[in-house]
Amino acid sequence: MILEKYSIGIGDRFGRQGGAQLDAIMRAQAEGIAVVPVWNKSHREHTIIGTRPGDVRAEADAAVAARRYAGRYYVDADHINLSNVDAFIEASDFFTLDVAETIGRGPAEEDLRAFVHAYGDYAGRLAIDGVDQVLEISKEAIERIGRTFLAAVKEAGRIYRHIEEVKGRGNFVTEVSMDESYAPQTPVEMLFILAAIAAEGILAQTIAPKFTGRFNKGVDYVGDAGQFEREFREDVAVIAFAVEEFGLPQNLKLSVHSGSDKFSIYGSIRETLAEFGAGVHLKTAGTTWLEELIGLSLAGDEGLGIAKDVYRQALGRYDELCGPYATVIDIDRGRLPDADAAGGWDGPAFAAALRHDQSCAQYNPSFRQMLHVSYKVAAEMGGRFYEALERYETQIAPHVMENLLERHIRPVFGG
Ligand SMILES: [Zn+2]
Repeated sequence: MILEKYSIGIGDRFGRQGGAQLDAIMRAQAEGIAVVPVWNKSHREHTIIGTRPGDVRAEADAAVAARRYAGRYYVDADHINLSNVDAFIEASDFFTLDVAETIGRGPAEEDLRAFVHAYGDYAGRLAIDGVDQVLEISKEAIERIGRTFLAAVKEAGRIYRHIEEVKGRGNFVTEVSMDESYAPQTPVEMLFILAAIAAEGILAQTIAPKFTGRFNKGVDYVGDAGQFEREFREDVAVIAFAVEEFGLPQNLKLSVHSGSDKFSIYGSIRETLAEFGAGVHLKTAGTTWLEELIGLSLAGDEGLGIAKDVYRQALGRYDELCGPYATVIDIDRGRLPDADAAGGWDGPAFAAALRHDQSCAQYNPSFRQMLHVSYKVAAEMGGRFYEALERYETQIAPHVMENLLERHIRPVFGG
C-alpha cells in the first residue's frame, strides 16, 4: 500500500461531513490536483465524542459509495500508541505512531552503543543537496541524538511490528509523529532519526516533525515564516537524502500536523514541494466542526440557537475545555465576547466572527479558537446537535466543501 504524493488528512469530529469533504477532493481531482483523502481521528477525539474507530471507516466507505468515488482513500488511526492501537487495527489502514512522549527517555546502553557504532562514521562534514550549509556533525552530537531519540524510534518499532503482525507487511501506511514534542528537530537530528527508523525496519511513508513556531488550532501560523521555510526545505532535502542513504520507502514525505488554516506558510510549502518534486501530507483537524457551526449559525432559528448555546456553555467551562489544548491555542480572554453579547448577534454576525477570513474586520481569532476546543459541549448535546446537523445539512455542506477546497487544497497542492 503506497500512499500518493499528495494527501490530506480530513478530520471530522462528528462524522457527518464525509460526503461534503469528499466533494472537495473530487472537485480538486477534476481540476487536475492529484490529492487523496485520509479520514483521521485520534483516540482522544473518539473518547470525548463517544465514537469508535469503526465509525470512521463506515463514514468513509459510505461517502465513497454515495459519490461513486473510484480513487484511493485511507482511514488514519491518528496519534496512537501501544496502549490503544488494538481498537484501531481492523478499521484503519493508515497508522500515525505517536512516540513524542518517549523522546528524551534514555535508551538501553547497548542500543546506544550500537547506534553510535553504526553511524559514527558520519562524524565530519556532510553536504546534502538542497541544504544551504554543509552539516557539521560531531560524534558527541550523534550520541546525544541517540540519547534523545533512539528510545522513541524503538517504541515506534514495537507499535509498527504489532500492527504488522495483524495486517501483514506492506498492507498499511505508517507515519511516525514527533510533532507533539517540545523542541523542533534540526536537520542533523532528522537525518539520524530517519537512520534509526530504517534500522528498526519501519516502512515509514510519512514523518511528522515538530516545526518552529506555533501551530495553533484553527488559526494562522504564528512565528517566523522565513525560518519555517528554511526548516521545511531542509527537512525535505534531508528526507530525499535519507531515502537513498538508508533505504527508506521512496515515497517517504513530510506530514504537517495541525496544518489547517496556516495560510501564511502555504505558499512556501507549495513552492518547496515544486522545487524538490516532493510530496506532503497535510493533516487538518477540527476546522470541519467550525464550518458546521458557521452553517448552523447562518441557518438561523434552532441552528443559530445551538451555536450560541455551545458558546455560552463553553465560556463557563473555559479551564476544562482549554486545559488539554493549552500548548496549541492562544486565546486572548479580553477579546472573547461575553455570552450575552454573542447571544444578541444574528447569524451573519456570529459567522463573521468565527469564519477564518483575516480581511474581515469582524473575524475574532480568540472566539474561533474557543469554539474550536468546545466540540465536547456539542457532543454532550447529543441528539439535539445531531438532529440539527441533519436538518441543516444543505446549509452546512457548502461551507465544509469550500473551506477544504478553496482555503486548503488549492493553496497547498494547486499548480
Ligand atoms: Zn499531531
